Amino acid sequence: METIKLVRTSLLAAFVARMDKLVSKAVKLNCESLVSYEVGGEVFKDTEDDVSKVSYTQVAVYGETPIIQGWQFLAVLEHKDGGTLVRTMSGDSTVPADYHKATPRCEHCNIDRYRKDTYLVQNTETKSIKQVGSSCLKDFTGHESPEQIAALFAEVAEMRGSEEYGETGCCNNPNRYDINFVVAMSIKLVRETGGYVSRANAGDESCSTSDRVYNDILAYRAAYKNMETELLK
Ligand SMILES: [Zn+2]
Repeated sequence: METIKLVRTSLLAAFVARMDKLVSKAVKLNCESLVSYEVGGEVFKDTEDDVSKVSYTQVAVYGETPIIQGWQFLAVLEHKDGGTLVRTMSGDSTVPADYHKATPRCEHCNIDRYRKDTYLVQNTETKSIKQVGSSCLKDFTGHESPEQIAALFAEVAEMRGSEEYGETGCCNNPNRYDINFVVAMSIKLVRETGGYVSRANAGDESCSTSDRVYNDILAYRAAYKNMETELLK
């Protein structure tokens, strides 16, 4: 499974740090194929105002549905008062309709008791499906911590789908401005303030031309867009 995500470049470090945590958890669980990622190229996208762009970085997130000792995780069944919630863990396999109404039973021990979650696993060779309680998963799969693998897979799925680092997240500040627009803004400010003021000459009040240009860009970038034609004549 591969998901290509567009991560805002300003948030790339945070995204990568979170991915690295998932990868190292997978390594600890001896389940490396569960998650990996690759950082790709930078992409600039226009913003609504037409004069600025936001930098994104493409990140490919890879991961296979966990298979332990020949049993592939299909889904987690959450048993609630109102019914059963099926959280699929495999990209392509579908969960048979019967399991959408399944009671919290365990086909491994057959002990009838309350269970919050049960797991659906499928034998990769025989394709037979078993519903197993969380405490029996360990016996059933022979892996020390199958529950942690399932939990980690859910976390990876969440990262795949997350918009937190993408376009609709917060702080979507532009990273690149149209050069003509910036030059036009600078000309306007130099004219208005009676000359160019370098950072070194501006003192503590931060009224250098570059600071003014930057502040004005932030505040008025859309409004000034039409000036460039006139000012650059
Ligand atoms: Zn059991």
